[in-house]
Amino acid sequence: MALGAAGFVFSTFGTLRLTAAAAIGAGIATFVGSIFPDIDHHASVPRRKATRALQILVVSGLAALAALQFETIVSVSATAISMAGVDAPPEAAAGAGIALFALAVAGIVDPTLGALTRNHRGWTHNPLIMFVLTGVVCSAMWYLTTGLAVAEQVTAVTVVGTFYIGVLIHLGLDGEVV
Ligand SMILES: [Zn+2]
Repeated sequence: MALGAAGFVFSTFGTLRLTAAAAIGAGIATFVGSIFPDIDHHASVPRRKATRALQILVVSGLAALAALQFETIVSVSATAISMAGVDAPPEAAAGAGIALFALAVAGIVDPTLGALTRNHRGWTHNPLIMFVLTGVVCSAMWYLTTGLAVAEQVTAVTVVGTFYIGVLIHLGLDGEVV
């Protein structure tokens, strides 16, 4: 799957840097997709693994976004610092703010999963619901990457899309899809 996505990106855009990013990203997204459905299996090993994987995915996603938008975040924190009347370098404040936010988000991943998934093999094992969910995340990714080169945008969305392939692999292994 990773190879497929990488091949698609390479043949479409012909850049090695994007191809490598697509291969790695698609590999991770497919893996996360293949364990994601079992997050509804409470206290299971897959659940714990999925929680960890999701936390890593969320934190690295935030880190990537923060890196892309670092200048904006620094200028926002510079404003906040001057409004608060404290004397601190805005870059450090921005970094600390991003780290705190990432920690907080990682911390709510587990309880959120618990609240969202009550029954095993519920909505996370429904191919249609997962398709819609992947579509929503793909659209969000497209929106978040507006302003980047189209090639990079398409790569990001393709990588997110391979998450669904992972989900299908999982459902196939569960015997829920022919
Ligand atoms: Zn399952």
